[in-house]
Amino acid sequence: MNAYLCLGANLEQPREQIHKAYLELAAHPGIRILRGSSLAKTRPWGKTDQPDFHNQVLEIETTLPPLELLETALEIEQKLGRVRKEKWGPRLIDIDILLYGDLVINTDKLTVPHPEMHRRLFALRLLAELAPNLEHPVLHKNIETLIQEIESQGDM
Ligand code: ATP
Ligand code: CA
Ligand code: CA
Repeated sequence: MNAYLCLGANLEQPREQIHKAYLELAAHPGIRILRGSSLAKTRPWGKTDQPDFHNQVLEIETTLPPLELLETALEIEQKLGRVRKEKWGPRLIDIDILLYGDLVINTDKLTVPHPEMHRRLFALRLLAELAPNLEHPVLHKNIETLIQEIESQGDM
């Protein structure tokens, strides 16, 4: 199955952290990285008094079912030294599952598509580099359209 991951970091050389996460993902036997977006720097989301974020979106092919992919992502975050504190606070590394094929999942542990994806320009723009015509499996709009909708609403 093809899936899209969004990597984010804003502490201690964020580019390096994202690169490390990339290497960990690439080394996993159940994951093959197909393509990566550019690495972009963005203002922090949700909680604004913290360093800027770096983000990258990866397109992967995986044999892992969704919950195992999530477990793997959380394990890599831990291995790289992420400590969970406040929601949206600064972090060494964050690995979110944006999409897993066209599956729709709504459980306590995992929501796919990522519930905030369609509101986050930083994620959508990177995703659009790889898959502008991909359809959001809940909203049934493609990534370009979701971006245009946010841009036409202006800053909130
Ligand atoms: P946000 O999810 O709004 O980007 P965050 O990334 O800061 O916030 P975390 O503390 O990293 O939030 O994640 C909290 C929990 O979210 C994870 O332990 C995981 O169980 C759950 N979760 C639900 N859906 C997803 C998803 N699509 N990708 C990653 N984690 C998810
Ligand atoms: Ca996140
Ligand atoms: Ca996360």
